[in-house]
Amino acid sequence: MQLRIGGLTPLTTIDFPGHLAAVVFCQGCAWRCPYCHNPHLLPVNCDGTDWPMLQAFLEPRRGLLDGVVFSGGEPLFQSGLADAMEGVKSMGFKVALHTAGTHPDRLRRLLPLLDWVGLDIKTSLEHYPQLTGITGSGVKAQESLALLLESGISHEIRTTVDPHLFSRKTLLELAEELADFGVIHYVLQLCRPVENVDQLVHLENTTFLLDTALLERLEGLFSSFMVRGLNR
Ligand code: SF4
Repeated sequence: MQLRIGGLTPLTTIDFPGHLAAVVFCQGCAWRCPYCHNPHLLPVNCDGTDWPMLQAFLEPRRGLLDGVVFSGGEPLFQSGLADAMEGVKSMGFKVALHTAGTHPDRLRRLLPLLDWVGLDIKTSLEHYPQLTGITGSGVKAQESLALLLESGISHEIRTTVDPHLFSRKTLLELAEELADFGVIHYVLQLCRPVENVDQLVHLENTTFLLDTALLERLEGLFSSFMVRGLNR
């Protein structure tokens, strides 16, 4: 079984809501978001864990962990993901996926295996190429969003808010686009600044962007809305 794994978190209580899980960080991503916090996972190859090592890790944890989260990098980047998920599933674990929806065709085939999905929607359709560096990336993400919403699989749609990439106007436009598309549960997560950015200034800019009036507008668009990591 081919799955290039760049890292492993043995236990998480937050990456698969309501479940105790391990997180498998899949190697590789074709997109280049400026705030990416796992740049070491972007290249295709790594010297990390492979499937037999993951299987050996999981074997004694049957009955202790509820599930396994495939995160990244971008898990859909790898064609071996389906086999790995099937392997995990056959061991009795639930399967969760963190993805930016880069490969909707692969996502479609994986849907029967998935118990939960966290889908990152990075920006509104027209601004995707500017953010990811990839022409057509917005259409891929939108196709994945449609598949996920249609599937009925438990999920979270979320957007990372970098104050350098969003204005109040563009954030509101994105939220309205998502609400029109049928998104019901929506989460904004604060972007952790990358190196060489003044952390205090970054936090002030984010707090300034996400003012009370904007948050109230966003709250009104969704049945369930939250901002992760914002202290007021
Ligand atoms: S899609 Fe995810 S892994 Fe790929 S560059 Fe963007 S943030 Fe990083």
